[in-house]
Amino acid sequence: MIESKGISKVYPDGTEALREVSFDISEGESCSIIGPSGCGKTTLLFIFSGILKPTSGKALIGGKEVISPSKEVALILQDYGLFPWKTVYENVSLGLELRSKLLQGFQGRGAEPHIGKKERKEIVTSLLEDLGLKGFENHYPKQLSGGMQQRIGFARALALNPRILLMDEPLSSLDALTRETLQNFLLSLWKNNGITMLLVTHNIEEAVFLGERIIVLSPRPGSVVKIMENHKVGNVNYRNTEDFFDKCRAVRRSIEGGAI
Ligand code: ADP
Repeated sequence: MIESKGISKVYPDGTEALREVSFDISEGESCSIIGPSGCGKTTLLFIFSGILKPTSGKALIGGKEVISPSKEVALILQDYGLFPWKTVYENVSLGLELRSKLLQGFQGRGAEPHIGKKERKEIVTSLLEDLGLKGFENHYPKQLSGGMQQRIGFARALALNPRILLMDEPLSSLDALTRETLQNFLLSLWKNNGITMLLVTHNIEEAVFLGERIIVLSPRPGSVVKIMENHKVGNVNYRNTEDFFDKCRAVRRSIEGGAI
């Protein structure tokens, strides 16, 4: 479903961010990408979300080359990307409203029907409930903890019902316990919704807890050092097992082998 075919990226100032990166991710798979700071992980996600173009190679989703952003693909960033002047409810419904306005212009021309106000409200209310944000609809992001703000970010992305979730260090600014709770949330999201996930992280334990496959990148220019299978993923208790610790050690070894 997601194919990286020899992707290289050189920025206009000559910085070589990625070199010949190739991998495949199947539909419904969860994949972690781990590598040192500056090795091109964000660049790679931006290419798959249609914001940046590779210098050479191809990014394919569902067999089609990615040339612009698509509603099937949601990108979640580290700093939550919320609008501070909008309430929790408004932040979550924003993507739906924009899409609805856009689609209204295409009615009668074979486009999918736009989502009405009532349906938007149902989607947003049920997501806020699922994410434990019920009762905070009228709060502003600054009034809430980092963990809650990130959940608003997740709710906003999920409101559009994406098939693919691209995440760039989404949990890195959270304390350890909140981080673990949201890792559990991402695990259940993946297991229950058949969503395809690509998670960029610096954290070995997080990569192993959430990635059915773990792609280890080298220092810049990022290239694939190793792709590791991690079939035992899928249960919250995995993080307390010997297999989990063995896998973390194996990932650490390949990172060290890649001279990170
Ligand atoms: P990571 O997410 O792994 O930390 P990035 O993809 O953000 O890495 O960046 C990869 C490299 O490309 C870094 O050296 C960064 O400084 C550089 N870079 C990122 N964006 C630009 C840009 N617009 N112009 C020039 N260099 C950039």
